[in-house]
Amino acid sequence: MADLKTYIEQFANLRRANARQGFYSDATRKKAPHKPILLLAVLDLIASEVITNPVVDVTGDLVELNDLFNLYWRRVVPLGQTSSIAFPFSRLHNEPFWKLIVRPGHTVSDAVVAKTTTVSYLRTYALGAQIDEQLFAIMQTEPGRTSLRKSLLQACFSEEAQQALREQALVNQGAFDYERLLEQQAHQPLVKEVLESNNYKPAVRDQGFRKVVTTSYDHRCALCGIRIVTPEGHTVVEAAHIVPWCESRNDDIRNGMALCRLCHWGFDEGMLGVSGSYQVITASSIGLTPNFAGPLQTLTGRAIIPPQETALWPAQEYLSEHRHRWKLK
Ligand SMILES: [Zn+2]
Repeated sequence: MADLKTYIEQFANLRRANARQGFYSDATRKKAPHKPILLLAVLDLIASEVITNPVVDVTGDLVELNDLFNLYWRRVVPLGQTSSIAFPFSRLHNEPFWKLIVRPGHTVSDAVVAKTTTVSYLRTYALGAQIDEQLFAIMQTEPGRTSLRKSLLQACFSEEAQQALREQALVNQGAFDYERLLEQQAHQPLVKEVLESNNYKPAVRDQGFRKVVTTSYDHRCALCGIRIVTPEGHTVVEAAHIVPWCESRNDDIRNGMALCRLCHWGFDEGMLGVSGSYQVITASSIGLTPNFAGPLQTLTGRAIIPPQETALWPAQEYLSEHRHRWKLK
């Protein structure tokens, strides 16, 4: 049976592409950073108990895994260079501790793996990946995760990049804690005071609030109802503050709504609001010539789409403050 030392070595010796000359920078030791970054994200999801068994599913919503992957990615890869988690998810199959779970009737070959550049394609033949049981047991312990993370960082990244990734790991941990706190406090009236008494970094707050609000609304826009999550795990909604953070310092879930980009803009500009009976209000100026507000005007009087749990609905005290500010009736 393999022990921690074996996995530390396997993590330090990942097979990483060096692709064409100069494509990967010194930050990632001139090799592809995909595999170690995906593993860092997986370690975080195990720490926060989102992944609770040694199977990483790819058939469902990949928002969380993709989000963490991108947060790490942006720290060490030049701006504008993007990637899909499909690359490392499939190519880790070549490592001893990660095996793709193949759909019935399909097989996985080097050629299939090499062709995998999108999650849509990955899903045509794979259901997920199986992590070695013994490794997973180690990943479930804090000391185990620390050793494995250290091994990945030291082997695959420059000193400076290691520092940036360590910082991101701390932000992710903080954001998970903040999220839990927001969920617990959602049922308490004095949420603002409680949150103010804790000194959270802006990056932690932003990430925690965004996560808790977008998931409470299941990635659906509260005003227009649009819900789009791409196969790569990108969601159309953002977490909006009803009374802006800069004025309210209030991350109460009930001071938030998941809104699509257009509705978020419309709400912040006072073109859209929510009535005392939770119906969409549109400003009369929205359709003034030469504006064309299109589908936004059809929302007038329609019921908003709140979270399932009533305790998490947007609070009228915040909605009415927004209505008064913009004189919405
Ligand atoms: Zn919308």
